[in-house]
Amino acid sequence: MKYINTRNSMDKIESSDAILKGLADDGGLFVPEFIPKIQIEHLIGKKYNEMAFEIFKLYLTDFEDERLKEMINKAYSDQFDSDEKVVLKKIGDQFILELFHGSTLAFKDMALSILPYFMVEAKRIKENNEKTIILTATSGDTGKAALEGFKDIDGIEIIVFYPEEGVSEIQKLQMVTQVGDNTHVVAIKGNFDDAQKAVKNAFSNIELRKLLKESGYEFSSANSINVGRLIPQMVYYFYAYMEMVKMDAIKLGEAIKVSVPTGNFGNILAAYYAKKMGLPIEALICASNENNILTDFINTGVYDTDREFIKTMSPSMDILVSSNLERFLFEISGRNHQLINEMMLELKNNKQFSVDKELNKKIKEVMIAGYSSEIETKDAIVSCHKETGYLLDPHTAVAYHVAKKQGNEILTVSTASPYKFGISILNSFNENTEKMTLDEVNEKISLLSHVGIPKSLENISYNKIKHDKVCRVEEIEKIIKEILKVEC
Ligand SMILES: *Cc1c(COP(=O)(O)O)cnc(C)c1O
Repeated sequence: MKYINTRNSMDKIESSDAILKGLADDGGLFVPEFIPKIQIEHLIGKKYNEMAFEIFKLYLTDFEDERLKEMINKAYSDQFDSDEKVVLKKIGDQFILELFHGSTLAFKDMALSILPYFMVEAKRIKENNEKTIILTATSGDTGKAALEGFKDIDGIEIIVFYPEEGVSEIQKLQMVTQVGDNTHVVAIKGNFDDAQKAVKNAFSNIELRKLLKESGYEFSSANSINVGRLIPQMVYYFYAYMEMVKMDAIKLGEAIKVSVPTGNFGNILAAYYAKKMGLPIEALICASNENNILTDFINTGVYDTDREFIKTMSPSMDILVSSNLERFLFEISGRNHQLINEMMLELKNNKQFSVDKELNKKIKEVMIAGYSSEIETKDAIVSCHKETGYLLDPHTAVAYHVAKKQGNEILTVSTASPYKFGISILNSFNENTEKMTLDEVNEKISLLSHVGIPKSLENISYNKIKHDKVCRVEEIEKIIKEILKVEC
């Protein structure tokens, strides 16, 4: 299996190179040269780790089988508080796939627990002795999951940029208290889009890369622009499907609908790849919060970023420029490099692009789009709790609300533990949290959810703050040089 660049048909590299590079030199994204098929019958009776192996070996063909197995078993082990890593629950007339049982309490752990192993192994395969700098922009959850995954790994330095005012209190605390000698966390004055754009620009800055190269450094990414993030995210869709078969909710081969709370479009893209591999999914429901640019795009064919950036109670989805949409458009357009270049240039120059009617029709054949307003999200949290006793986090509540409108028995992907967004949840129940300590908030969430306080949060407000840098967006490259101590 080789990897090709969405923007340049001449670029073709191995998976280890694609993982190490993260982003192509021209800003394009690496995608598998073809989407392999899998017989789902082969997955019957397999455990999560075994399914991961079956899928990884189709995509990571320059990695040895034995090494893959080792990496999987190390990555998906005790850090997860559930034996089978992910948990499928029947809640009322819907299914909820809990993906937040990893160490940082969000679905980002599913991929970021293993990406560091992929990267170290890729460096070994390529005999690469450069120091790898992981540059990461985060809307809240990627940052912490990447920091945990990469902390204290030899030959790797990680720098995370998060929007100073754009993450929850727990998300911020998780990041600023991060331990590890190779971890760096910087708040930026701006939103996630600003952070993501600045990081992508740093990547594509030839001068900067040359300067770093002279000091033995090279960039890679832990964002979902890295194809090494995408591959692990396909596994849980297969797993969930097989669990539904096991529960007798569906027969093997019967098609399901999946609702995904979407931001940067990575998670739903993994579901789309799973469908192309042969998983019976009849509709992918792309659920947005009030930053509903994807809803508009799917429904009208026009992607227009010239709109207000809204801060919502589901901050990890507060995004207007969804990177992975490019990969989806590449597939759905029949892998048209030229069209992708035109659209991305349009986006850069005019802050918008559009697809023609025919392409829009094709998109609508696989995707249903909807969004949840802030009031609807709060209502979903409260009414689901009242009706079923289950406590949704605000991101999951967005997808749950949109799913409910499409019918019953839909698989809704749950991306975060309610503990990460306790204040917003309590506010949804009209509780005044202004005078509450974090411990009190957690206590209340434990009463509502009937799930004990996660170990990693027990003392978080007493942990030492290790990262207090703040910078403006324009200063990102300067900060990178300062952190790495390279002079120009
Ligand atoms: C990242 C994130 C999302 C959005 O996922 P994408 O892959 O960026 O679309 C949704 N919910 C939570 C809790 C997240 O951390």
